[in-house]
Amino acid sequence: MTDFSMKRDFGPTPNYPRVKEFKRKQDVFFCLAGPCSVESDTQIRSIAKVVAAAGATHLRGGLFRAGTYPGQVFGLVEPTLIKAFYDAAKDCGLKTVIEILDYHPAMMEKIWNYADCFQIGCRSMQNYSLLKIAGMSGKPVFLKRSQGGTIDEFLGAAEHLLSAGCQNLCLIERGSSGTAKHVRWDLSISMIPAVKAITEIPILVDPSHGTGRRDLVIPMAKAGIAAGADGLLVEVHPAPEQSISDADQAIDFNSFNELMKQINIMRRLPK
Ligand code: PEP
Ligand code: MN
Repeated sequence: MTDFSMKRDFGPTPNYPRVKEFKRKQDVFFCLAGPCSVESDTQIRSIAKVVAAAGATHLRGGLFRAGTYPGQVFGLVEPTLIKAFYDAAKDCGLKTVIEILDYHPAMMEKIWNYADCFQIGCRSMQNYSLLKIAGMSGKPVFLKRSQGGTIDEFLGAAEHLLSAGCQNLCLIERGSSGTAKHVRWDLSISMIPAVKAITEIPILVDPSHGTGRRDLVIPMAKAGIAAGADGLLVEVHPAPEQSISDADQAIDFNSFNELMKQINIMRRLPK
């Protein structure tokens, strides 16, 4: 088969041997669910309960966030929310995923005991110092593709994590900026099988950021799973339109339950 990832007329030759050699220990289905921003103890507890009952594996919630524009809701609304987030997850048997924005010791100290896993957001995909620290941390890492990242840049970032020692890595396709006017970001479904043709590193689909539209979350989640995704990242909120960030893309509890029902049916189909 033609190796499209290697087609280059100029620039450095793509180089990600560890990515290509990566051997998956087992097939695991990942479902990272939660609010764009953790807003209150009540909010996160109600979300944790619902998503755990529907089959989520991880609670992910924005505690530290990177936004496109200054003045959007950033960072931690209240410091006590890190512990509330963690307790809500543990009470429901979920692992926690927290995005790390920088590698300052103060940041690490704040979240170390509460993060089962680290998320590298799309805006940090090529922050190689951050990748090195995350890779050295010993924690599982979820790496999101940047909004314009090519497959080589994405897998190059994964290689940075693996060469720093990361043992548990998952990739996430979260859409690109583009010319489309019908979505905020344009989910690249083809990225999923294209990545899987090169590496066994699990790759998840994020139909929430990948569209920016709640009405497209279920169909695009299903499209991602049909294309071979090993799981999904979905933003869920008890009252989506009141979400303090990414309100247009959050889905409510009923929709999340429906989504998981449909995904479970798809997962039982022969591959
Ligand atoms: C997120 O998943 O919480 C997030 C902020 O996504 P992204 O980095 O893809 O914008
Ligand atoms: Mn968000």
